[in-house]
Amino acid sequence: MKKVVIVGAGPAGMMAAIAAADKYKVVLIDRNEKVGKKLYITGKGRCNLTNSKDISEFFDYIPGNAHFLYSSLYTFTNTNTMDFFEGLGVSLKVERGDRVFPVSNKSSDIINALRRELENKNVTILLNTRVTKVNIEDGIALSVTTEKGHVITGDHFIVCTGGLSYPQTGSTGDGYEFAREAGHTIIKTKPSLVPIEIKEEWIKELQGLSLKNIELTLFQDNKIIYSEFGEMIFTHYGISGPIVLSASRFVKENKNISIKASINLKPALSAEELDKRIQRDFLKFNNKDFKNALNELLPQKLIETIIKLSNIDEEKKVNSITKEERKELVNLMQHLDMSVKGLRPIAEAIVTSGGVDVKKIDPSTLKSKLVNNLSFAGEVIDVDAFTGGFNMQIALSTGHIAGKNIDDES
Ligand SMILES: Cc1cc2nc3c(=O)[nH]c(=O)nc-3n(C[C@H](O)[C@H](O)[C@H](O)COP(=O)(O)OP(=O)(O)OC[C@H]3O[C@@H](n4cnc5c(N)ncnc54)[C@H](O)[C@@H]3O)c2cc1C
Repeated sequence: MKKVVIVGAGPAGMMAAIAAADKYKVVLIDRNEKVGKKLYITGKGRCNLTNSKDISEFFDYIPGNAHFLYSSLYTFTNTNTMDFFEGLGVSLKVERGDRVFPVSNKSSDIINALRRELENKNVTILLNTRVTKVNIEDGIALSVTTEKGHVITGDHFIVCTGGLSYPQTGSTGDGYEFAREAGHTIIKTKPSLVPIEIKEEWIKELQGLSLKNIELTLFQDNKIIYSEFGEMIFTHYGISGPIVLSASRFVKENKNISIKASINLKPALSAEELDKRIQRDFLKFNNKDFKNALNELLPQKLIETIIKLSNIDEEKKVNSITKEERKELVNLMQHLDMSVKGLRPIAEAIVTSGGVDVKKIDPSTLKSKLVNNLSFAGEVIDVDAFTGGFNMQIALSTGHIAGKNIDDES
């Protein structure tokens, strides 16, 4: 019986092992003391496993090489994922944005289900074992060498070592080196789905404030490059939260490019409607100071900053605020502009964009086009998606396809 050696026991590696174990003897290797260490922290410990949108819509949420993933995602779809986990006894639920989670809200249920299935299929799991090299001779992968110097031979090898984000979970980019040594090109890695740093000092005063139902727009040299409604949070260095993470995918870190982030605090209202709303509030608080007239319009934490940025004296009586000043206030609330300083480091990113170039990987089998008995799956490949369960689905689909397509090689 042929032996398949899989490096990395994240979602991609575990899925590849389960798929391959139907036909082959499988050895799954991970450097950590347990499988699925990153999976454990996904979705804030709840694991946003996949998304229930029609699979044809997934590609709109994959800015990184969506076309390469057609075959994987259509062969092992989100429905397959949900059936697979329900079949393993994990009940699932769908939340806002069609995000799929375990009913228990515990990512550990997903990991335990995978681990049990690996055991059922007699997969040998080697933990605390870091692979340092994939040994290739004359275009054929022969074995892997571990940090402790052990050599593990096999007939087929699948690299599922993940990207570079959250390195404490074991993903430190080792797979890029294995791929490079096999002759593959590595597309420059950069953080994706990562908080954004802001230059303005006033941002620090807002640390911890989270905003719902706002619109975030990114401008690069005055052209809109991203715009989305949703939630965000201010941090000590800038902004984070779902729509900020997605926006980060479009931020180019280049000193010659200037990027502006603009928040519309009241996107449901036109400027005229907001002005009328402010007038109503001002009428209500007619004799009060400006600083005491915004309580019904803005979260408490934001009022001081808005007042400061508005250049209206905080002690000015509301009834003496001019039409022009009110217009400025409306403009500020709908265009709270910030200058983007850059992205947080890749270690803080949800995913890595870049990785093993898809050009030299067969999309329907995930085999290397350079080394026939070597495959890649998951985040190690140059693919990445937005939040919403799409990255997990990519890892699971590519893992499954890699594990199922290892037979007819030399
Ligand atoms: C905080 C956070 C939250 C996230 N939440 C979600 C979410 O809710 N939904 C979603 O879709 N995506 C989420 N993601 C993204 C998702 O976790 C990844 O895209 C996914 O885990 C990638 O799977 P993978 O198997 O390719 O790689 P990984 O999960 O990174 O697994 C790689 C494995 O390889 C092992 N390894 C690496 N090098 C070696 C080596 N040399 N030898 C042996 N073993 C090695 C590592 O220890 C690791 O276990 C989140 C990511 C983060 C960081």
